[in-house]
Amino acid sequence: MKILCIGRNYVAHAKELGNEVPQEPVIFIKPSTALAQEAKSFSIPSFSSDLHYECEVVLRISEYAKQIGVEKASEIYDALTVGIDFTARDVQQRLKDKGLPWEKAKAFDQSAIIGEWRDAAAFKNKRDIHFCLYKNKSLVQQGHTAAMIYGFEEILSHVSNYFTLEPGDLVFTGTPAGVGPVEPGDVLEGFLEDDSLFELTIQ
Ligand code: ZN
Repeated sequence: MKILCIGRNYVAHAKELGNEVPQEPVIFIKPSTALAQEAKSFSIPSFSSDLHYECEVVLRISEYAKQIGVEKASEIYDALTVGIDFTARDVQQRLKDKGLPWEKAKAFDQSAIIGEWRDAAAFKNKRDIHFCLYKNKSLVQQGHTAAMIYGFEEILSHVSNYFTLEPGDLVFTGTPAGVGPVEPGDVLEGFLEDDSLFELTIQ
């Protein structure tokens, strides 16, 4: 399986990092070794001293799809959760400055945290889903899928032009504003609507 991630899908987040709002979805991939499902703890990797959380809605692919149209894309995923696209911001900045790929900053082991799955059919309007992240019981990120530049179906259609989607693949759909650093002892808790789907202690 593979993990596809969308960058800069919320205008306020693109701007907080000084990035342009993209003309088409920004895509990067994490390998299967990045996945940490329902992990209870996360160790900051030794190569970063500015490790950031990015809370995102995550889709689980349930069908093979290649060059699928937007109108069919709602049929190829069956579950949603919230997750964290952990990012070594210091490493990413060095790579971006040199115009190099991001993988060392984004695709390392355990960098893709996901919570418990919820049935996609339970969410009638995919453009009206609220999600949020608490750090040490304080609200740090609050997202609403209405604010996505590219909705779930547009993302899946676009991604499938380049990469065949397979059952079990995951798609991280981008983070809203409010990303920030973690340090040992922090506790992150992610919510989809009112449901707490993961709680993670940083080590
Ligand atoms: Zn992200």
